[in-house]
Amino acid sequence: MGTTATAQRVVLGEGRSSRRALSAGTHHPCLGSGRSLPYSVDRGKKSVSRQALDELKQQIPLLDYLQAHDWQPARQLSRGRLMGLCPLHSDHKPSFLVDPSKSLFYCYGCGRGGDLIRFAELYHQVKFPQALALLHQWRGLAPLLHEAAGFYRMQLPRHGEAVAYLHQRGVRSPELIEHMRIGYAPGGCLRGWLTRLGYPLQALRQAGLVTAVGYDAYTHRIVFPLEGNLYGRSISASAPAHRFLPGAKGGLYSWQQVRRYPEVILVEGLFDYAVLWQAGFYNVTCSMGNHLNAYQFRQLCDGTRTVYLTFDADTNGSGQQAAQGLAHRLREQGLNARRVSLPDGHDPNSFFVQEGDTRQFQSLLETARP
Ligand SMILES: [Zn+2]
Repeated sequence: MGTTATAQRVVLGEGRSSRRALSAGTHHPCLGSGRSLPYSVDRGKKSVSRQALDELKQQIPLLDYLQAHDWQPARQLSRGRLMGLCPLHSDHKPSFLVDPSKSLFYCYGCGRGGDLIRFAELYHQVKFPQALALLHQWRGLAPLLHEAAGFYRMQLPRHGEAVAYLHQRGVRSPELIEHMRIGYAPGGCLRGWLTRLGYPLQALRQAGLVTAVGYDAYTHRIVFPLEGNLYGRSISASAPAHRFLPGAKGGLYSWQQVRRYPEVILVEGLFDYAVLWQAGFYNVTCSMGNHLNAYQFRQLCDGTRTVYLTFDADTNGSGQQAAQGLAHRLREQGLNARRVSLPDGHDPNSFFVQEGDTRQFQSLLETARP
C-alpha cells in the first residue's frame, strides 16, 4: 500500500499541472503511470492482444459505462469534457474529469486516472484479468438488459393489475416510477420483441430473460433495473415473490447518488426504498436482501458516515439479527451504525403503507439504537 500511495501522491502533483494534457495527447500522462506495461497481464507473455483490448474499449465507451453505474456529470467543460463526483473515493466537490471522446478519466482528488479497463479495476477493486472478464460480461449483457427494461417500462401503464399492485405497495408518484425506472413484465411478449430487434434467442437464454424451453422468464412481475441485473417482484401469490436474473445482484441500489450523504439509510427491499424515497428520504439505499455481498459492504465503507440499518422487523428475528451483525462489522471499519426499530412485524414499506408518515419515520431514526 505504501508504494501505491506514494505513486498516487506524485501523480496527483503532476495532475494539477498537466490538466491540458488530457485533451492534447492521445493518452493522459497519468494513464499507466507506475505501470510501464499496463496491458501485459503476464510480463513478456501476451495473453491478451492489444487489438482485442482496443475493440473492447471501442465497444464500451467509458461514459456509457460510468452512467450505467449511476455516475452523473455535475458540469460540462470545454471540448465536451465532463466533471463530476469521483466514484472511486469519497468526494464532496466534483474532481472527476472525463473525456468522452478519448474515453479517459482522471481524478484531481485521489489522483487516479486511465481508461475503461483501469476504471473497472479500481471501481470493482479487482485485478486486470477480472476487470476484463467483468467488462466482457457487461458488454454482452448491458444492451440486452437495457432493451428489456425499456420494454417492461412501456408495458407498465398498459396493465391495470400492475399499476394496482404498485398502489397497494404505496408506490404512487410518477417521479418515483421514473426515478427507479419501474416496469412490468406481463409475460409472453418479451421474447418476440427482442428477437424482432435482432437479438438471437441464444443470447436471451444466456441472459436468463427466456427460459430453456423458450418462455419469458419474468411473468406477472414488477421489474426494477439494477446494475447488470433485473429484479422481478411477482404480483401473484402463486409464484416465488423475488427473482433475479442469473449473475450478481450488483452493488447497493443507486449508490452513486447516495454516497455523498453523511447519513445513509439502508433497507433490504426495493419497495422499502421506494416508499422512503417517495417520502423525501433521498439518502436511502438498498441491499436487496439483508445479507450484503462483499462489494456492497465495501461500498458502504468507502467513506466515513452514519448508516441507519432499517431491516424488516420479522417475527422470526432474522432482520434484527442481520442488522446486529452488520452494525458490528461496520463499526469495525470505523463507521457509525444505528439500528432502526420498526413496529413488530413491519418493514419500511408496510410502515408507510399503513399510515406511517415522514415525521414518524424521522423520529424512528432519531431513536435508533447503536
Ligand atoms: Zn477520486
